[in-house]
Amino acid sequence: MAALELDLFLCRTDNFGVLLHDPQSGATASIDAPEEKPILEALERRGWTLTHILTTHHHGDHVAANVALKERFDAIIIGPAAEAASIPGIDQSVRHGERFDFAGHPVNVIETPGHTAGHICFYLPQDKLLFAADTLFALGCGRLFEGTPETMWQSLSRLLALPDDTTVYFGHEYTLSNARFAVTIDPDNAELKTRAAEIEETRCDGGFTAPTTIGLEKRTNPFLRAADPKIRSHLGMEGASDAAVFAEIRKRKDNF
Ligand SMILES: [Zn+2]
Repeated sequence: MAALELDLFLCRTDNFGVLLHDPQSGATASIDAPEEKPILEALERRGWTLTHILTTHHHGDHVAANVALKERFDAIIIGPAAEAASIPGIDQSVRHGERFDFAGHPVNVIETPGHTAGHICFYLPQDKLLFAADTLFALGCGRLFEGTPETMWQSLSRLLALPDDTTVYFGHEYTLSNARFAVTIDPDNAELKTRAAEIEETRCDGGFTAPTTIGLEKRTNPFLRAADPKIRSHLGMEGASDAAVFAEIRKRKDNF
């Protein structure tokens, strides 16, 4: 089986567009559809034809181009069952634990409620790829619009259980702000400090900070490190639950 090819580009202001392409069959999926024009340009640049849209959640900046792209390419839209009523053009709704096939590559559906109540991530175990959208960002996580910190912590814990060498694509280029916040929570983390400095440089040069990996996020993303003794002591929360530590970090970021 041939390796999947990926194309990453910016949509709107800070949304990532991602195309996933199987060179053998020609199948091409857009992970979410934030904006039609940059997606069409990426398809054109690569010479690919859209066959699928994999929708992670109902927010407008993730589904804006669903209908236009479906009309143009007759693409199949797969999205979360829990939000099917608010996903434009949805053809196939999927739930947690379901597995479907993209050009012979298994795709596992992981429900990660918190940012929205029905948010899903797409995990391709054979390809070691995760599309985390607005659940997990580089050095950050999504805002809790439709869930409690406890719910989001459980969702993030599902992603933490994936292998460290899983490559993670995410929904927004928020990493510079996330890095500046992360060092205030985990100031003694040498790997985080190095990473934060690299991110300043990458963004200064106009580069993207995606993708990341589960292992790198485990070691440097404060939102995944609620169990870390140094972070707990820094926050004065030595005896609190992981979810309570996570809630405090999320609250601080909301006010950062
Ligand atoms: Zn969102």
